[in-house]
Amino acid sequence: DQPTDRSRRVLLKLSGEVFGGGKVGLDPDVVGDVARQIAAAAADGVQVAVVVGGGNFFRGAELSRRGIDRSRADYMGMLGTVMNALALQDFLEQADVRTRVQTAITMGQVAEPYIPLRAIRHMEKGRVVVFGAGAGMPFFSTDTVAAQRALETHCDEVLVGKNGVDGVYTADPRTDPTATKLDHVTYTDALRGGLRVVDAAAFSLCMENELTMRVFGMGPDGNVTRALRGERIGTLVTA
Ligand code: UDP
Repeated sequence: DQPTDRSRRVLLKLSGEVFGGGKVGLDPDVVGDVARQIAAAAADGVQVAVVVGGGNFFRGAELSRRGIDRSRADYMGMLGTVMNALALQDFLEQADVRTRVQTAITMGQVAEPYIPLRAIRHMEKGRVVVFGAGAGMPFFSTDTVAAQRALETHCDEVLVGKNGVDGVYTADPRTDPTATKLDHVTYTDALRGGLRVVDAAAFSLCMENELTMRVFGMGPDGNVTRALRGERIGTLVTA
């Protein structure tokens, strides 16, 4: 039901790990680099929306194991994603890309509320839209939000950028030395095989709505631009 003549529109999911460069907090050098890579693709006319994770600040499940009420811990996690969104916005603006942050929890001084039609309009005008605060609901993950936002804003594909792994493997490559990388996998096989590189809920949502996903590694340099432009890196996941 999508017009075929409009430019490619994609949703990029970046986990908090990317923003922290593997540590707690923000690594401005890494965020700046990712922003410049997004800017390069946006300059080619690719319409880009980004969903940011927050694992570099807080993960609700971990905090709740340490005694904080799960829902409150999840809200803390969501607030962490907003800091990542603002950092990405800043570096995108520095790279001359007009950027709007929309959050699922209203915070009028720092971001627009999530308004899907407005997000689409921003992208049509060449602005990058960064979605923060997840779904605004505890017990969800930002992977699932990435699938949902991609569907609601009519993106052609979900691109999941990973640290430390460059696609979907037959098993967890960090623990199983026999694991091999797949160029293509179906959602059904990924779910059956328990391949948890992306949340099962996100896989299910994409599968049911026939939205394709590409899982790729953040390195080597330039991979984010390549994925945004539609190059066949990493693993393609289809229904
Ligand atoms: N979170 C949530 N609802 C959402 C999205 C995120 O409760 O819709 C919380 C949850 O606690 C999660 C944290 O925010 O652990 C950070 O998000 P996520 O773990 O998905 O980030 P990532 O793993 O991508 O860094």
